[in-house]
Amino acid sequence: MASNSENVMIKGSCHCGFIKYTCSVRPEALKKATRCNCTFCTKLSGANMHLTGPQDFQLLSPASQAECGDYSVHSNAHRYFCQKCGTQMWMEASYEMFGKQIEQFSINLHSVDQPQEGLDLSEVKFEYFDGLTNNFAAGLSDKPYKGGLV
Ligand SMILES: [Zn+2]
Repeated sequence: MASNSENVMIKGSCHCGFIKYTCSVRPEALKKATRCNCTFCTKLSGANMHLTGPQDFQLLSPASQAECGDYSVHSNAHRYFCQKCGTQMWMEASYEMFGKQIEQFSINLHSVDQPQEGLDLSEVKFEYFDGLTNNFAAGLSDKPYKGGLV
């Protein structure tokens, strides 16, 4: 796994322990995360901590990503989850926004192990997207957009 020596290693797992991972997170990304009010994010408890990319994520178990559930509403956005306990684990998405190609890789904060050195989930500040009306042009807000959870 490629990682910057200043990055912080984070451990995560699903509720039953079938899925385990580590990831390398930039220090500036550790204290913030995003939520979106779209149905995909809301129904699946999306609390996204953004990684630089899949190179900073290492699946420790199971042996193959194919053993994880893969829920996708668009062929270019996947949420991986535990097929035994249902925990949402991470998301990979590739899409175009404002004429720019976006490659998103984020872990679901609900899957991060607590307590652990380097990350206290109570200190994470959320910023919010308005995906429900596909109004990403509105940008990130300190408060949820209509229909979104805090
Ligand atoms: Zn599980």
